[in-house]
Amino acid sequence: MSFTLHGIAVSSGIAIGHAHLVSHTSLEVAHYVLPKKFVDEEIVRFDTALQITRNELSGLRSNRPTHAAAEFDAFLELHQMILDDPLLSVAPREMIASEHCNAEWALKVQTETLVAQFDEFEDAYLRERQTDVKQVAERLLKQLLGQPGHQPTPMRLDVETILVAHDLSPADLIQFRPQQYAAFITDVGGATSHTAIVARSLNTPCVVGLHHARELVREDDLLILDGEQGVLIVNPDKSILAEYKLRQSEWELERKKLKRLRTARANTLDGTAIELYANIEKPEDVAEVKENGATGIGLFRSEFLFLNRDDLPDEEEQFEAYRAAAEGMEGQPVTIRTFDLGADKQLKGVERVASNPALGLRAIRLCLAEPQLFRPQLRALLRASHYGNIRILIPMLSSVSELNQTLQFIAATRQSLEDESIPCGSDVKIGGMIEIPAAALAINVFARKLDFLSIGTNDLIQYTLAIDRTDEEVAHLYDPLHPAILHLLAHAIGTCNKLGVPISVCGEIAGELPYTRLLLGLGLRQLSMFSAQVPSIKQRVLTTSLPELTALTQKILRADDPLRIRELLGRLNA
Ligand code: PEP
Ligand code: MG
Repeated sequence: MSFTLHGIAVSSGIAIGHAHLVSHTSLEVAHYVLPKKFVDEEIVRFDTALQITRNELSGLRSNRPTHAAAEFDAFLELHQMILDDPLLSVAPREMIASEHCNAEWALKVQTETLVAQFDEFEDAYLRERQTDVKQVAERLLKQLLGQPGHQPTPMRLDVETILVAHDLSPADLIQFRPQQYAAFITDVGGATSHTAIVARSLNTPCVVGLHHARELVREDDLLILDGEQGVLIVNPDKSILAEYKLRQSEWELERKKLKRLRTARANTLDGTAIELYANIEKPEDVAEVKENGATGIGLFRSEFLFLNRDDLPDEEEQFEAYRAAAEGMEGQPVTIRTFDLGADKQLKGVERVASNPALGLRAIRLCLAEPQLFRPQLRALLRASHYGNIRILIPMLSSVSELNQTLQFIAATRQSLEDESIPCGSDVKIGGMIEIPAAALAINVFARKLDFLSIGTNDLIQYTLAIDRTDEEVAHLYDPLHPAILHLLAHAIGTCNKLGVPISVCGEIAGELPYTRLLLGLGLRQLSMFSAQVPSIKQRVLTTSLPELTALTQKILRADDPLRIRELLGRLNA
């Protein structure tokens, strides 16, 4: 049966392929029936994994860092309780015994039952605890998968495969190699969630917020995914398929043509130079940055070095990563953001329980609270600055005292490296991210103390409009054209221009064509986006005359009716 689903378009391109359903975790679980003689052994295997997981949790509790918040303890205690819930610790054994199935399968089925029970709770806090159930089950599942006896599921990922998931974290996604699948779709998620951001950086078509795709789509269904329109067509008929094949080749041709702009300078028609930088997640992304003609890195989300691993990258490993990026960019700016951990990017094993993580101990707040995490990063950054043009970017600044503390920390780290005679770059620029409305309003205070600023519109919009960027239920409220956002942008850009402090935008709108002229009209001269989008934005810059933008941009700022704002924006882009 053919049907169509509509979601939120987050990464363009058209993919045609067969569905491969993936479970909540990126770990695939096979189902197989065991010969009777192996059933007891399978139960022992389950018990062993259970015991190791119990030990692991108590180990984490007794080794908890002294600085870790008391919530960390509460969180581990909760996970221990969940692990001992009979549905996770006893029911899978019984299922292995009665159905002769493998332990992973029994665990998966029982986890789903437990999650469904949590789903029924009226109380939002209790309902949210299903995330903890999934995390605990994932921990146990990993133990099982790492044990002898498990027959791994053959991964069938190839370019014809479209991954269909209820949810995928940024960490899940980054595990899949880009060449292994054609696209992916999820039931949940918003356009500026980090999962969507990673999809764009992998250059993979993606639609999120499809609600029930994971339930409705069957394994191997033929799918067409239109990442531009946010449409998923399941089992299309021949004529639709032919039409999309044509559109797909046209789209690819267009991309190829745009790449010819690689070496062209991004100058407007009136000759103003615009800097187009790229956002990256790991040093290997530098090749793509250069391929797409970006002239610098405006945002290296360094926290991605932490995802998908059980240990923390030490100073040496970080130094190598930053140095590789700096050397790869051959003197062009490489803006490395200090860890923006917390919220939807959590350290493995130390996920924090916070009632509202986006407003909690995240980004620079976390780094200042955990100097043992921050110090090695600053040492690595300063050491790597000797090998290229590294700039340090501080995320989520909200107060000046936080900034002062960070600047002192950086200065003390530099001093100790100098005392050890370890070379550092002599003029490492330090910048801050404007992501919190308070920081945007008080930008002059930050601009006076920093070398440059960068507006993170993904968070700025989230915090200004009070909409969780990962929640598809409120995704329709995400609106970069909201008058409050436009005024914050105009104020931030205008103030920095007056003070002569460079300012850029590195949130997702920097890579969205409808906003390019508006941002230029507001006075912005630097944009940082996912690499693949640089050629399209460059083309828009090349066909833009700045003097012609002023009057319309001012009209947009004065307008308050959303339809009128959109109409004026249409004229700006005509
Ligand atoms: C932003 O908030 O706009 C930003 C660039 O940072 P991130 O998306 O990583 O939160
Ligand atoms: Mg941000």
